[in-house]
Amino acid sequence: MKPLGPIPADYTAIDGELAIGGRKASALVKEARRTPLFVYSRDIIAARAEALRAAMPERLAIHYAMKANPYPPLLEHVADLVDGLDVASGGELEIARKAGYLAREISFAGPGKRDPELKAAITTGVTLNCESEGEISRALAMGKALSVKPRLAIRVNPAFEIRGSGMKMGGGAKPFGIDEEQVPALARRIVDEGADWRGFHIYAGSQALDAAAIIETQANVIALAARLGEEAGVAVPDLNMGGGFGIPYFDKDTPLDIAAIGSALAGQFGKLPERLQQTQFAIELGRYLVGEAGVYLTRIVDRKVSHGTTYLVTDGGLHHQLAASGNFGAVVRRNYPLAIASRFDAAAEEEASVVGCLCTPLDRLADNALLPRAEVGDLVAVFCAGAYGASASPANFLGQGPAAEMLV
Ligand SMILES: *Cc1c(COP(=O)(O)O)cnc(C)c1O
Repeated sequence: MKPLGPIPADYTAIDGELAIGGRKASALVKEARRTPLFVYSRDIIAARAEALRAAMPERLAIHYAMKANPYPPLLEHVADLVDGLDVASGGELEIARKAGYLAREISFAGPGKRDPELKAAITTGVTLNCESEGEISRALAMGKALSVKPRLAIRVNPAFEIRGSGMKMGGGAKPFGIDEEQVPALARRIVDEGADWRGFHIYAGSQALDAAAIIETQANVIALAARLGEEAGVAVPDLNMGGGFGIPYFDKDTPLDIAAIGSALAGQFGKLPERLQQTQFAIELGRYLVGEAGVYLTRIVDRKVSHGTTYLVTDGGLHHQLAASGNFGAVVRRNYPLAIASRFDAAAEEEASVVGCLCTPLDRLADNALLPRAEVGDLVAVFCAGAYGASASPANFLGQGPAAEMLV
């Protein structure tokens, strides 16, 4: 038997069924008229945003990293809860503008920005977090050609990363950001060429559950930004400190202690170096805000036994749930939180493996899990599906197509 990850405490049963936003799973599926279906809860997203506000110093802006979930109704809901939005492509920028975000609230990071993307950012007044010297040169030249002052920040590739974080995105050779030692001269150049210099973006990792590791990283980020500003002799109007706040996906994972992070950050803000006294600080979070608010509902279409293993075969799978299947950067596959949604309060009584409908052994949703006995027609819920689900999975694999999505 292999353990399942922890189901977020926000979810309860109505008439024995999983309820999301006060509505039964079967009713939601009926409304969508199909499975698989992603359901995102407005209330849970709002609760996470409010908890963050309460824990963090008032001076800190909270941004949403929309690559976690770009579903337009969710994006519109989040707009009322955060101070800014981080996009990572021209396509995301377009979706964000349609969802009502103002250019001033948006920053655009990501390697390999193409000229039309730079142009869209510069003409609308979005902040570009520049990822290389070449990109800075192109943005400056484009600003001159368009007679617009581009809003430019430098994404720094820091020499450190968050201890024990999920995906590694800082430290050593990276396609992201500009190595620390090259930053001061380039910051100087941006200012000298008359662009609207915004400051630094320093992102050091993702999916950390250890508050002490995040606290240490934030202290390093602040010290680095002050040092780079000092060396370049430039002001630091904005400092995007990255994020990395994780959520519990797996057995024995425990929720992040955001109160500890908030009070350490308040301590940092109380003794800021001279260079950062006027700085506007921000964190950028994706999964922390929306991950636990999403549930993926899929229906059991077959039940079979092979060499003693019971398989529950669903109409969903890795084409919508690449991360839960263990194929989105995981080193070892572990079970996400999962339940039989239509028997949410039934006692577990058998060991079964839940798989998707794709003809590949990679398509697994739960291995050897202890579950209530489920039959064909029952609904399965995969939790922590609000981030990196629908948009980060290969929906067209095997001609399946996307899942339905719904915000409740
Ligand atoms: C992906 C990404 C994020 C969001 O990461 P989460 O783990 O979802 O919070 C934030 N900032 C940058 C630069 C990213 O690439």
